[in-house]
Amino acid sequence: MAKNEPPCSFCGKNKSEVNILIAGISGHICDGCISQAQHIVEEEVTQRVESSISKSLNLLKPKDIKSHLDEFVIGQEQAKKVLSVAVYNHYKRITQKNDNDDVEIEKSNVIFLGETGTGKTLLAKTVAKILNVPFAVADATVITEAGYVGEDVESILAKLLQAADYDVTAAERGIVFIDEIDKIARKSDNPSITRDVSGEGVQQAMLKLLEGAEIGVPPKGGRKHPEQKLVTINTKNILFVTGGAFVGIDKIISSRLNTTSVGYASKHKRTTKVTSENMFQYVTPQDLKKFGLIPELIGRFPVLTFLNPLDESALRRILTEPKNALVKQYIKLFEMEDIKLSVDKDVLDFMVKKAMEFALGARGLRSIFEAVMIDAMYELPSEKETKEFKLTLSYAEEKLKNSSIQNLKVA
Ligand code: ADP
Repeated sequence: MAKNEPPCSFCGKNKSEVNILIAGISGHICDGCISQAQHIVEEEVTQRVESSISKSLNLLKPKDIKSHLDEFVIGQEQAKKVLSVAVYNHYKRITQKNDNDDVEIEKSNVIFLGETGTGKTLLAKTVAKILNVPFAVADATVITEAGYVGEDVESILAKLLQAADYDVTAAERGIVFIDEIDKIARKSDNPSITRDVSGEGVQQAMLKLLEGAEIGVPPKGGRKHPEQKLVTINTKNILFVTGGAFVGIDKIISSRLNTTSVGYASKHKRTTKVTSENMFQYVTPQDLKKFGLIPELIGRFPVLTFLNPLDESALRRILTEPKNALVKQYIKLFEMEDIKLSVDKDVLDFMVKKAMEFALGARGLRSIFEAVMIDAMYELPSEKETKEFKLTLSYAEEKLKNSSIQNLKVA
């Protein structure tokens, strides 16, 4: 070794005391200092990312999350409460410093059971808005097992990435709502040897997302392509909420309830009357398995809750009460044309009655309102002198009678 060989400029060790000494323009660095510096950089980056997450995230207490949800979603008290706690715990878990003890809080992915148009998607979307995190909706029925025609599970993450404006860190703490999970149920409880493309295979493919893995995502969506550059997304901190109508599960639940009542439950007489309307509230993971979801998938959704069917009074409230209620939206649309829209109360009752007839939940209200208003929305913007529009029952009845929406009527 040359006598005047300079030492590491950071720790002062000589070349003989280290493995490698790298020369720079005006100094030297040894391998020990390089790995220490790398460690410091990694810690600093993690801290910055964590603090940027905490800054943009609006983490409210469960009660406050629920009261914000109340502004947008009518009824569904239990689902709102359960969701508020689940998201609170989830984001608490990811923003908390790692305290190196052995207690690891598991993710609280949520599964909603509820008829179509009762607010499952709305709840998930609204909670993402309240917390200020990216949100994406995907339909389980378009997802296929790798190798089949359809979308790969990765496309779900691609949507989330788009919703996060391609900010990977933001996407990695987003919320994904997977609709119609019930439609990918296995056809029977018995796993069969034959391949079940639409059911179990897709459920298996979905596990990949839910397990908290690093997944290569084609940023523009679509299928993976050998030459396409992939963005890596870690799903560990993404909250998955899923929902479905689970048509027929009420029978599974009631048959289980009746069976247990012979044994243990008969000694503890049920006081509540079990009707088909509130059967969802008794659902257990065991019922989901019987319905055809695989245990591994059920295990990834530890929070299970239900939504109630919407009755007339709920539909009536949905028309006027939520922050972005339909009536408020139409009033605003007309305001932009300098027209004052007023809606008679009996029109609202009539629309609710029709929505119940169509049995489309709150979704039906929108179509009915649209059918009633289409002519007015077409004509009035060209009529400069009109400053007021009063929506009366006779007008609404007339417009609806002549619209194609009548075809929606369930037989
Ligand atoms: P689904 O349960 O099928 O996911 P959605 O959440 O998509 O139903 O509901 C469809 C639309 O109906 C929503 O965008 C919203 O306008 C309205 N809606 C449904 N349920 C409610 C509710 N409980 N409170 C307020 N609006 C609701």
